Formats: sequence, structure tokens, C-alpha cells
Amino acid sequence: MFLESFRHLIEIEALKKQNQQNLMQISSENKRISDLDERRAKTRTQIENLILEEKNLNLSDTQQQIDVLQVRFKKLNSQLALAVTEKEQIAFENQIKLVKNEMDHLEALYFNNLEKSESIQKDISNNNEFLEGSLESLEIIKTEVANNISAEQKIIEDRNLRIQSLTERLQPSLKNLYLETEKKFKPKRPVSYLIDKKCSECHMLADTMLKNSLEEGRSIEFCPSCGRLLIPETAKIY
Ligand SMILES: [Zn+2]
Repeated sequence: MFLESFRHLIEIEALKKQNQQNLMQISSENKRISDLDERRAKTRTQIENLILEEKNLNLSDTQQQIDVLQVRFKKLNSQLALAVTEKEQIAFENQIKLVKNEMDHLEALYFNNLEKSESIQKDISNNNEFLEGSLESLEIIKTEVANNISAEQKIIEDRNLRIQSLTERLQPSLKNLYLETEKKFKPKRPVSYLIDKKCSECHMLADTMLKNSLEEGRSIEFCPSCGRLLIPETAKIY
């Protein structure tokens, strides 16, 4: 009396398995958006870091220091021109040498950092370009994803209608046991097939009496080992 119901159960389980594929497709569609969002967030952080890095080069500070030294350098030179004694002259010359050294050092630093700054600006501008371009792609992808997901959802909904109608056609006691077992095993499969006296999930060996009774549709059986609802493999061909 259960054979017809077993056949429906086989179809129900197959349909639910197909639903899993569509659900996986939906999550991979969503991942397309989250992946790009993640890349964009990383790029924004990178831009912030680059801006900070550029700021820390202190280019304008160095420029100011050079300006101050230049003023001092000029002043020392005019003082040197007015120096009376040789001692004074030597003192000015030494100071001029020191200032000149410092100026050379700062100028070298300035141009070195200027190069770095230019390269950082280029990186920032590339990153900004990516942000702008990817914003457009993001909108396109979002539309695509929404369409694809709604197509997948439609397939699932249709399939669920079929599942529902098949479930309604199950023999009531089998239906209740199936739904209870499904809850208990979620997300794992609540059913297993008895193939050559063996449970297809845990490979427990059933006795002949259970096998015969199940295959003839006379009883509802659970695998004594894993507790799954057993479906006779022979129901597939009825
Ligand atoms: Zn089992």
C-alpha cells in the first residue's frame, strides 16, 4: 500500500536535490556582487593609505626649510663680503659651508620625495579610475544578478509546487513520518534507499523480513542504524 507513496518520495527527494543546485547558483550570483564590493572597499582603503603616505613625505615642510636656509645662505654671503678680519671671514665661510651642505641634503631629499609623491599620485589616480569604472560595472552586474536570481527563484517556486502536490499525495502516515524525519536530519538527507538489503547511507545490512515487507510496500521502515526513512529501491521501477 506504500509503493505509490515511495515512488512520490523518490521524486520529491530528486526535486529537492535539484533545488539545492539552484540555491547554490543564487548564492554564487550574490557572490559576484559581494566580491566586487569587497574589491572596491579594499581600493578605498588603499587610497586612504596612499594619501597618508604622500602626506607623510612632508614635501612642503622640506620646501620651507630650504627657503629658510636660502635666506640664511644669502645673508651669510653678504656678511662675508663685509667681513673685516680673516678670522671673521673664516667663520662665515664655515657657516656658509654648513648651510650649503644642509641645503644640498634637503634638496636631494626633496627631489627624491617629489618622485615618490608623483608615483603615489599616479597610484591614487589609477585606484580612483577603478572605483569609477567598477561603479558602472557594479550597477550592470546588480541588474544581471537580480534577473538571474529571479529566474532561479521562479524555477524553485515551480518545483516547490510540484513537491507540494506530490507531498499531498503521500499516504498520510508516511507523509507525517517523512516530514518529521526531514526536520530531524536537516540539512542532511532524511531518506535512504535499501539496495541489496543495504542502507544506501550507512550501509547497514537489513534482514530479509524487513527487506521483503518494505519492497512489497507493506510497511514503513527506518534504518535501525542511521534512523533514515527507508525507500525500497524497487519502488523506482514501479
Ligand atoms: Zn542507514
